[in-house]
Amino acid sequence: MLKYRAGIKKLPEYNVNEHDWKIKLDANECNMNLPPLVEERVMGRISRLAFNRYPALEVQSLIEQLASGYNVMEDNITIANGSSEILEKLFFSFGGRNHRIVYPQPSFSMYKIYTELSNSVGIPFDLAEDYTLDSQKFVNTVNENKAHLAIICAPNNPTGTHIPLEDIEYIAKNIDCAFVVDEAYIEFDGESAVKFCARYPHMMVARTFSKAFGLAGARVGYLIADSRITKVIGKVFMPYHVNSMSAATADIVYQMKVEYEPRIAMMQTERSRIENELNKLDGLKVYPSRTNFVLFKYDKADALNEYLNGRGIAVRNFGNAPRLDNCIRMTAGLREENDICMNIIRNFVQNGGRE
Ligand SMILES: *Cc1c(COP(=O)(O)O)cnc(C)c1O
Repeated sequence: MLKYRAGIKKLPEYNVNEHDWKIKLDANECNMNLPPLVEERVMGRISRLAFNRYPALEVQSLIEQLASGYNVMEDNITIANGSSEILEKLFFSFGGRNHRIVYPQPSFSMYKIYTELSNSVGIPFDLAEDYTLDSQKFVNTVNENKAHLAIICAPNNPTGTHIPLEDIEYIAKNIDCAFVVDEAYIEFDGESAVKFCARYPHMMVARTFSKAFGLAGARVGYLIADSRITKVIGKVFMPYHVNSMSAATADIVYQMKVEYEPRIAMMQTERSRIENELNKLDGLKVYPSRTNFVLFKYDKADALNEYLNGRGIAVRNFGNAPRLDNCIRMTAGLREENDICMNIIRNFVQNGGRE
């Protein structure tokens, strides 16, 4: 008899839509590989790596760079396998039996799963009808429930919604439990909330190289937080959890981050173009986005999703997920990819949802 830990078997599987798609617009990835200049330096560095050694040097070098980039101390930074590993460890460290975790709904689906994995009590906080976050209500929910951890995603995935910095600071100022701002898409939005971390030591920011910096395959993310927090959460990671190749790659990408500015601008332009095009279609409700993706609601979303899949195009269909029924999220890919996808959507919708 296999006796798993309580609760694991009933967790949902993380749906990775693996298939040889012609156009992949379902996971908010960057649809361009490393810029050529970056690739050259990454390959050079990897060819000289000490594969026989544990990765301490490469990780240290990345931490030094991030610390000087953010003007914080090295002990304010924790590196991990994507911000996913950061989030999982934060939920583990601040959660546990009878510990309450407040997370927005709809938002990143993993918040609920990390809550359950860490045996914590989840308190989903409903975003408004237009998916904006009412910071005053959020503060009240956190305080009334005496939460142990509160998280927001700014800008929010999968809705694309911007959260003003004043609102983030208002939350930081008015709650006293651990407060995480997940900034997976901040490069597409505007100014980071990192600057508040020094003033509000219970506030921390999770960032990733996976989205704007197109390094999803390397799995590198990090946390910026007070050194007392990084010291404690550092205890729950495996030794040498981030490998040398990934750390060295992220190190070079971060050094060469100006190379990414034109790409990020292009992804933003493409996102706006998709938003405008979708807005022209009758029967679609398009939510304003400050990310590299657009969420829209359409009463024949399931049929449209199947129609796109049949043509080799992957988008993210939310099926009947809470507060996301009939919603589809489309990542801004390359211009040609977006054109092909938009043409298919346009034809489908203008045909009244018939193929
Ligand atoms: C993609 C994503 C992450 C995790 O990305 P990693 O690849 O694990 O760094 C975290 N939060 C949100 C909201 C995301 O969309």
